[in-house]
Amino acid sequence: MVDIKAISERDRSSVLHPFTQLKDFASGKSGDPTIVTGGKGIRIEDAQGRAYIDGFAGLYCVNIGYGRTEVADAIARQAYKLAYYHTYAAHTTEELAILSDRLVRMAPGKPSKVFFGLSGSDANETQAKLVWYYNNLRGQPKKKKIISRERGYHGCSVVSGSMTGMSFYHDHMDLPFAGILHTGAPHYYWGAEPGETEDSFSRRRAAELEALILREGPETIGAFIAEPVLGTGGITPPPTGYWREIQAVLRRYDVLLIADEVICGFGRTGADFGSTLYGIEPDLVTVAKGLTSGYVPLSGAIVGERVYAVMEEAAERVGAFSHGYTYSGHPIAAAAANAVLDIVQKEQLSERARIVGSHFQKRLKERFAQLEIVGEVRGVGLLGAVEFVADRQTKRRFDPHHKVGARISKAARDRGLIARAMPHGDILGFAPPLIVSEAEIDEIVDLAYRATKQVMDELA
Ligand code: PLP
Repeated sequence: MVDIKAISERDRSSVLHPFTQLKDFASGKSGDPTIVTGGKGIRIEDAQGRAYIDGFAGLYCVNIGYGRTEVADAIARQAYKLAYYHTYAAHTTEELAILSDRLVRMAPGKPSKVFFGLSGSDANETQAKLVWYYNNLRGQPKKKKIISRERGYHGCSVVSGSMTGMSFYHDHMDLPFAGILHTGAPHYYWGAEPGETEDSFSRRRAAELEALILREGPETIGAFIAEPVLGTGGITPPPTGYWREIQAVLRRYDVLLIADEVICGFGRTGADFGSTLYGIEPDLVTVAKGLTSGYVPLSGAIVGERVYAVMEEAAERVGAFSHGYTYSGHPIAAAAANAVLDIVQKEQLSERARIVGSHFQKRLKERFAQLEIVGEVRGVGLLGAVEFVADRQTKRRFDPHHKVGARISKAARDRGLIARAMPHGDILGFAPPLIVSEAEIDEIVDLAYRATKQVMDELA
């Protein structure tokens, strides 16, 4: 039996929780921590015995669902055999070599090598260093600035946090870092001008990107980083034509493209990668989350041929590639990732996400699109969002003090559904495990609908 009181007290007095209002938590005003004790399939359970459908797969990562013993067995086997060795100076393990080869074969673009890290944030930090390294080595030392998008999310470390295009991730922390620039978000609902089509909106966003590159000087712009589908910034699929237009600009000015596949990778959108779905040909690809389904920490910065060729060619001149972590390519993480990818492939989870995802998108629209506080219902595959507004005609937002998104998320939770109040606006986000069934989708959408109706009644 879990001692809820003792654990809560220990936690409250010692854990610095991410994304938690510290004073309310310290004083108990925001309640006790939720002590998560178990999980199976799409559900988790807390210490009080309450079960929740996890409609967000942890943080969009537990794609294969909870409690997969195949992965636990693979982790244990590797731990018994060899719990740790590093990958410096050309050391490796069998699981790592298998995993890396697999990723190079399946990743979008023209992948050549994989640098392993522990989180999406550190992988994007690595990507920035690779952009700088590549341009130094090929004699373009000024070509260092990196452009990301407003409302993009790329992590919380110094450079990745700067790439993240939401000011509340920067405030009071001296970010963004110099040399990281932002361009407009690809969100048609909020960004389009009256009468503008999706295609012309995409062209305008690409023209803005081009204007920014020209203003700064193309010889100073090293890379553009973006998620195929904008994730934490609101779960927003790109408008039609967006990726074609953007890539044309990047090619014109010799700017590398980093596809941040941390959420989209390994099936979430109904394709193996978001890049596959939208015809993106990246030079560098970031993966994490779904790579191990969150069972252990692991990320990858996948380096395309174009960048790697320059690195190898310069090696005699510059010496060893001096970047790496104690835990780069950790054998237990590699074993877990191989077991996860076995499941993803055997159970055809990308295809499943496409089929069940189309049911999900249809049900979300049927249930929510007509509600008077719903501005937009959007998504792709098993990523979805409902955005709430005070006035559908004028697209007037709710007064932030009403905390409409957070209240709906809380009302859903009280009914046993975890759906995330996204941080930018009043948005309820969904990203269930990819093993979810159509019946479970109906249950998720129904619970979210009833939670929304409850808050609508409270607002009336
Ligand atoms: N990139 C994207 C697209 C993400 O969604 C996230 C996390 O949500 C990250 C990077 C950062 O990953 P991590 O939290 O593992 O550092």
